[in-house]
Amino acid sequence: MKAKKFDSMDSFDFKPGSYCFVKAEGRLGVFITLPCGHNFMPDNKWQLENPEDENKITVRPSIFCSPSKPCWHGYLTNGEFKQV
Ligand SMILES: [Zn+2]
Repeated sequence: MKAKKFDSMDSFDFKPGSYCFVKAEGRLGVFITLPCGHNFMPDNKWQLENPEDENKITVRPSIFCSPSKPCWHGYLTNGEFKQV
Protein backbone atom coordinates (compact mmCIF):
# COMPACT_ATOMS: atom_id res chain seq x y z
CA MET A 1 0.00 0.00 0.00
CA LYS A 2 1.34 3.38 -0.98
CA ALA A 3 1.67 5.94 1.79
CA LYS A 4 -0.16 9.23 1.29
CA LYS A 5 1.33 12.38 2.73
CA PHE A 6 -0.68 15.18 4.28
CA ASP A 7 0.86 18.58 4.86
CA SER A 8 -0.99 19.26 8.07
CA MET A 9 -3.11 17.47 10.64
CA ASP A 10 -5.89 19.95 9.84
CA SER A 11 -6.55 18.16 6.58
CA PHE A 12 -5.54 14.68 7.74
CA ASP A 13 -8.08 12.03 6.74
CA PHE A 14 -7.16 9.19 9.19
CA LYS A 15 -7.52 6.70 6.35
CA PRO A 16 -5.26 3.64 6.04
CA GLY A 17 -1.91 4.61 4.58
CA SER A 18 -2.02 8.33 5.41
CA TYR A 19 0.73 10.12 7.27
CA CYS A 20 1.67 13.61 8.38
CA PHE A 21 4.87 15.03 9.84
CA VAL A 22 4.45 16.65 13.22
CA LYS A 23 6.74 18.37 15.66
CA ALA A 24 6.71 16.54 18.97
CA GLU A 25 8.85 17.56 21.92
CA GLY A 26 11.21 19.48 19.68
CA ARG A 27 11.88 16.71 17.24
CA LEU A 28 10.34 15.73 13.95
CA GLY A 29 7.82 12.96 14.32
CA VAL A 30 5.27 11.39 12.09
CA PHE A 31 1.65 10.52 12.64
CA ILE A 32 0.61 7.46 10.66
CA THR A 33 -2.65 5.69 10.04
CA LEU A 34 -1.51 2.13 9.41
CA PRO A 35 -2.99 -0.12 6.71
CA CYS A 36 -5.03 -1.82 9.48
CA GLY A 37 -6.68 1.52 10.27
CA HIS A 38 -5.01 2.08 13.64
CA ASN A 39 -3.07 5.26 14.33
CA PHE A 40 0.60 5.05 15.18
CA MET A 41 3.19 7.59 16.15
CA PRO A 42 6.74 6.21 16.33
CA ASP A 43 8.67 7.31 19.40
CA ASN A 44 12.44 7.59 19.57
CA LYS A 45 12.86 3.81 19.29
CA TRP A 46 12.19 4.29 15.59
CA GLN A 47 14.21 6.11 13.01
CA LEU A 48 12.68 8.34 10.44
CA GLU A 49 14.49 8.44 7.13
CA ASN A 50 14.01 10.58 4.06
CA PRO A 51 11.53 12.96 5.70
CA GLU A 52 12.39 15.60 3.11
CA ASP A 53 11.31 13.41 0.22
CA GLU A 54 7.59 12.83 0.39
CA ASN A 55 7.71 9.78 -1.84
CA LYS A 56 10.39 7.99 0.12
CA ILE A 57 9.43 8.12 3.76
CA THR A 58 11.03 5.23 5.63
CA VAL A 59 10.48 4.23 9.24
CA ARG A 60 12.79 1.69 10.89
CA PRO A 61 12.52 -0.85 12.42
CA SER A 62 9.28 -2.56 11.51
CA ILE A 63 5.94 -1.47 12.93
CA PHE A 64 3.99 -3.90 15.05
CA CYS A 65 0.40 -2.97 15.72
CA SER A 66 -1.19 -5.10 18.40
CA PRO A 67 -4.16 -3.48 20.12
CA SER A 68 -6.12 -6.57 19.09
CA LYS A 69 -5.37 -9.72 17.19
CA PRO A 70 -4.93 -10.16 14.33
CA CYS A 71 -3.47 -6.86 13.37
CA TRP A 72 -0.69 -5.43 11.28
CA HIS A 73 3.04 -6.00 11.29
CA GLY A 74 5.13 -4.59 8.50
CA TYR A 75 7.48 -2.00 7.14
CA LEU A 76 7.12 1.49 5.81
CA THR A 77 9.91 1.81 3.28
CA ASN A 78 10.31 4.34 0.50
CA GLY A 79 6.72 5.44 0.84
CA GLU A 80 5.29 1.93 0.71
CA PHE A 81 3.67 -0.14 3.44
CA LYS A 82 4.62 -3.80 3.22
CA GLN A 83 3.15 -6.40 5.52
CA VAL A 84 5.50 -9.00 6.95
ZN1 LIG B 1 -3.71 -2.23 13.93
